[in-house]
Amino acid sequence: MASAPGGDPVLAACKDKLKHFRLKELKDVLYKIGLSKHGKKQELVDKIVAILSDQQDQASKIDGLPNRLMVGKETVVKIVEDTFRKMREPANAVSASGNQNELGYSVMPMKNPDDSAQLDIKVRCPCGNSMATGSMIQCDHPRCSVWQHIDCVIIPEKTADTAPQELPSSFYCEMCRVSRADPFWVTINHPLLPVSVAPSNIMADGSYTVQYIEKTFPLSRANREMLQKAEYDIQVWCILLDDKVPFRMHWPLHSDMQINGIPVRVVSRQATQPLGANGRDDGLMLTQFLKEGPNKIVLSRSDSRAFCLGVRIAKRRSLEEVLNLVPKEQDGEKFDDALSRVRRCVGGGTEADNADSDSDIEVVADSVSVNLRCPMTGSRIKVAGRFKPCVHMGCFDLEAFVELNQRSRKV
Ligand SMILES: [Zn+2]
Ligand SMILES: [Zn+2]
Ligand SMILES: [Zn+2]
Repeated sequence: MASAPGGDPVLAACKDKLKHFRLKELKDVLYKIGLSKHGKKQELVDKIVAILSDQQDQASKIDGLPNRLMVGKETVVKIVEDTFRKMREPANAVSASGNQNELGYSVMPMKNPDDSAQLDIKVRCPCGNSMATGSMIQCDHPRCSVWQHIDCVIIPEKTADTAPQELPSSFYCEMCRVSRADPFWVTINHPLLPVSVAPSNIMADGSYTVQYIEKTFPLSRANREMLQKAEYDIQVWCILLDDKVPFRMHWPLHSDMQINGIPVRVVSRQATQPLGANGRDDGLMLTQFLKEGPNKIVLSRSDSRAFCLGVRIAKRRSLEEVLNLVPKEQDGEKFDDALSRVRRCVGGGTEADNADSDSDIEVVADSVSVNLRCPMTGSRIKVAGRFKPCVHMGCFDLEAFVELNQRSRKV
């Protein structure tokens, strides 16, 4: 399909629209195409233009582009046009930040499910079907990039109108979510791949039915031997599919479990209390209940929400190892980046900085005070820590934070 990029009127129209896009629109478009949203504004524009120009060869050379695109050029054109139209809508112009509705697109429209070109897509979905059918969504973790069925992993918001389904701005599969839920454990393998835990049905009196899920998984001799070592454990975990906090475990209300016929307490909280201490649940350690060969777990619960459950073998990290995970000072934020972040906080900054920033922070401050006392311990900060996505300037004491997190667990 040879085409002269300069002479294509559709391309020219799209290019013109791209010029008007802010970072938000560019990221939305890339997200819907299923590509990485990282990069400078111009790089994001270049990525989209490369796809629209049929420059597949060039496109795949640009960092973050897969060799084969998941959507056709026509779909990309439509996404650009719709995003532009949406941006121009008066309602949207008023609320420049906040609850903008995402457009409901098929992230990966399948023209022909038998098309052999789709065979190299990695599909792993808690429904158990590994075929790419219907609309798909991809995990944002670069080393995972697994595809899942949107209908299986995204819970549509219950709204009265028939607005198109809203897709999250970032998406992680349940395996990546659980791997990041607890820095004190490193996932080694998954004897039971994640499975959907369907919501309970509502009964005439308004209560929910008790539902059971039964799963059998094998434990190999090698894994059994690995579990003899003190630092390894095997755990069954559960997450709430549409949890607002993506990286935490979360068990259904009234959870009870039987492991090889033995009743085991899943969580230490009350059956009706939504979450454990510190607003999170833990995985259930299974090592003492399992044997080599097939093992059976049964979960009963009574909860109207959809969850996902799996079994993983994990290795314990020491406090020292966890502290070592925190990026070293020289690997952290570059001085220039820090400077421009602080400038954005204070409201100044250069023209060029502001052109690319669609930041919500519009307050201009004359002076800013930064507290050197840790908000958790009340003493002076030794190593100042900050979460990576945070734009504010306040800090906490890093070691105190990690230690407190370790001490506050029930194990
Ligand atoms: Zn599925
Ligand atoms: Zn993933
Ligand atoms: Zn913060």
